[in-house]
Amino acid sequence: MFRFEDYSITDVNTRKVLQCILEKGPITKRRIQKNTGLSWGGVYNSISKLLDKNVILETGQIRKDTPGRSPNLFDINYKENLSVGLDVTLGKIIGVVSHLDGKCIYSKTLSMKSNLSQDVIEGLLNVLYEIYDFVKEADYIKTIGLALPGSTIKGWDKEGLEHPFHGIFPKNLKDLVEEKFGAITGIFTDPDCLLASEINNLADKSNKDIIVVLRWSYGIGLSMLMDGKIYQGSNRMSGEIGHTVIDPNGELCSCGKRGCLETYASLQSLIRKIGPVSNFKEILNLYNNHDPYARKIVDDAMDKMSIILANTINIIDPTILIIGGEFASLPKEVFESFKAKIYQHIMIGSETQILQSNLDDKATALGAALLIRDKIYYEVFELK
Ligand SMILES: [Zn+2]
Repeated sequence: MFRFEDYSITDVNTRKVLQCILEKGPITKRRIQKNTGLSWGGVYNSISKLLDKNVILETGQIRKDTPGRSPNLFDINYKENLSVGLDVTLGKIIGVVSHLDGKCIYSKTLSMKSNLSQDVIEGLLNVLYEIYDFVKEADYIKTIGLALPGSTIKGWDKEGLEHPFHGIFPKNLKDLVEEKFGAITGIFTDPDCLLASEINNLADKSNKDIIVVLRWSYGIGLSMLMDGKIYQGSNRMSGEIGHTVIDPNGELCSCGKRGCLETYASLQSLIRKIGPVSNFKEILNLYNNHDPYARKIVDDAMDKMSIILANTINIIDPTILIIGGEFASLPKEVFESFKAKIYQHIMIGSETQILQSNLDDKATALGAALLIRDKIYYEVFELK
């Protein structure tokens, strides 16, 4: 069994050195010192710690023509430090294996026909077994991150709060996975995981930026990065824009209220209304082929979403709003007209940039792998 204490890197200097090796490795101690600004002793200590924990390795020596000993090169021990991420949604479970730098080296998708909690747990464990079959050396997997729909996690300590899976979702899921697989496990809400992936993908970012990511998928949720941290709210209930009420006399929502945004605009509700379709791709085909009913439903979903997102921008004033999830695969021209609708409702003078995510459907699973990696190695949100 892995113990958090054995693996986690807690001191700031060692994290700095690790981050430097991730970005610039293979690299010599001298160059690490130059890049991090740490003392020679500091670099020496951090390198020893990282070698002890098997996080880095010596990969050879720089060739040089002058006499004297050639300096050693250090790089990440990618092979033996893997992080696994799982994205558990209503329609499918996606699992990924990633390197410490976030590079995906394997993925597995399992379509789910049932939304019964016990079937979802079984599916989740099966995806993990397949991942371990692929990796072969179980010890190489150090961390497992699980992305679950926000209400599933938030409902654990709240009597009677509904979540999208039927039946009771086990509170001890983290312990269950840690016991079975022996890797440090963390559970996160799915929009937070998507946010982690988007941040990892953004070229220009700074600690001053407020970045909001929408996951528009089977459910609808937001995640917000403020001051380099994910904003959670006082009860971890922030970002639940799917359950903002549009019409109090509207359709009954899974949360028990009526007329929430999700009843108009979630992929789940679109599939139910437009049927017989089972995923966003099929809905998009109908939309592109000018099916009048599908067009009406999807256009209505975009109208409602544009109002709620404009309200969100007015309240938060983010630097960037990234729209991700299945709806990020809207054709460019449709997305541009959707964006124009949002801008129509925003206060004049707003400078929020609205972006269509260009990440694939593995992004949330990968984000879960990144978030749990953070707990052990270094923070994805340590921005420049
Ligand atoms: Zn609701």
